[in-house]
Amino acid sequence: MLNACELEIDLFCKGLRVPPDVPLEGARGISRTRAGLGSGLELALPAKTWLKDEIWLNAPVDEPFAHASPYELRHDPAFGHLVVDERSDTRYRVRLPAEPDWYRWTTSREIPMSRIGVLQGTYLGIYINMVCTFWNYSPPLNCRFCTTGKNVGAAEARDKAVSDVVETCRAARDYSGATFVHLNGGFQGSRGIAFAEPYVRAIKEQVGMLVGVQLAPEKDFSKYDRLIDLGVDHLSFCVEFLDPGWFARICPGKQRMLGQRLFFDAMEYCAKRMPHGAVSGEIIAGVEPVERTIEAIDIITAHGAFPTVCIFRPTVGSDMESWPPPCYEDMRDVMQYVYDACRRHWLPIGAAPNIEVSLVVTPDDAALLADRDPKFYGYEAYRRFVRAAARPVFKRSMKPHRVGTQLVAQPVC
Ligand code: SF4
Repeated sequence: MLNACELEIDLFCKGLRVPPDVPLEGARGISRTRAGLGSGLELALPAKTWLKDEIWLNAPVDEPFAHASPYELRHDPAFGHLVVDERSDTRYRVRLPAEPDWYRWTTSREIPMSRIGVLQGTYLGIYINMVCTFWNYSPPLNCRFCTTGKNVGAAEARDKAVSDVVETCRAARDYSGATFVHLNGGFQGSRGIAFAEPYVRAIKEQVGMLVGVQLAPEKDFSKYDRLIDLGVDHLSFCVEFLDPGWFARICPGKQRMLGQRLFFDAMEYCAKRMPHGAVSGEIIAGVEPVERTIEAIDIITAHGAFPTVCIFRPTVGSDMESWPPPCYEDMRDVMQYVYDACRRHWLPIGAAPNIEVSLVVTPDDAALLADRDPKFYGYEAYRRFVRAAARPVFKRSMKPHRVGTQLVAQPVC
């Protein structure tokens, strides 16, 4: 029997079959928004350990590889939903998180809130860019694993005003207990990251949530000082691949317009100015050789950032939809390494309250893979100490408050 983190990894790699007779009433629907990584079925796996109560996961169900998965979702009137591994007839109880009522509400501009933002685990994800500019080139320069250009404007609103974002954040906070909103948008072209400032300011002043921003890196790093001044809590940089050949092949826009070096330089600049553990570097595992992924994890943690490692999902509609998913054994090794690297650098992972991420195996999830030695217990004690010490800081940050100096921001939609 796999532990909850191992099951999470195997489901990311193999997907889940959902027979049509399995009842899904009340569960979160499949929503193909943002880059498309959240286009599966949201599940919460009981972890049954002192390390975590549950592990959240967005299980691939639409992709062709998922149709051949040994895992099947079943429903038993006595036990509820189960994931059954048909290779061994092992049964895992799972919970299907409920779809929030506010998905059906509209903003004051009459836009359904589910077209503004969606829950991806317990946090709110909002794509604030019109669409990543890489999709506007001919031929397109989009990252080959991404489907943003097909989702924004179709499954989600293309034009998200600050008021839409504020109202949706407020609903997610008040009715789903969300504490964190993640704003992303890919490559913003000449607008720069300044276009995110009015959103960050409005959320901080009118709602009071923790805010993360993920946009293509700026060449003028002082722009990050402005976001930090506004109280942004988290910045992430999507490097995707370490191997220059893979980076250029899969991310032609990033290669041509930005260059790989800029991602690491921006990450390092921000990590020096923000609290330890507030910056992350994102990479995709399962495409380039595992050794390069491991090397990328070392580089990211050496920069003072924590690694967010996505298990490659050949998402339906992407240029890579026919590529095979990675194998479980490799991904388990990678995730175990993620936890070890965070431990070696004393990164305070999992310190913020109520942030469960369903799209990736978090370093926090990967604690379930670690060897139980004195270093492990020392690090876990440190993590608990930091979590308790940081509680009042996060509490203050989650109250609406005036932020930063009056910045001159570019107008937004
Ligand atoms: S930068 Fe790449 S991954 Fe991000 S939205 Fe644009 S195409 Fe998608």
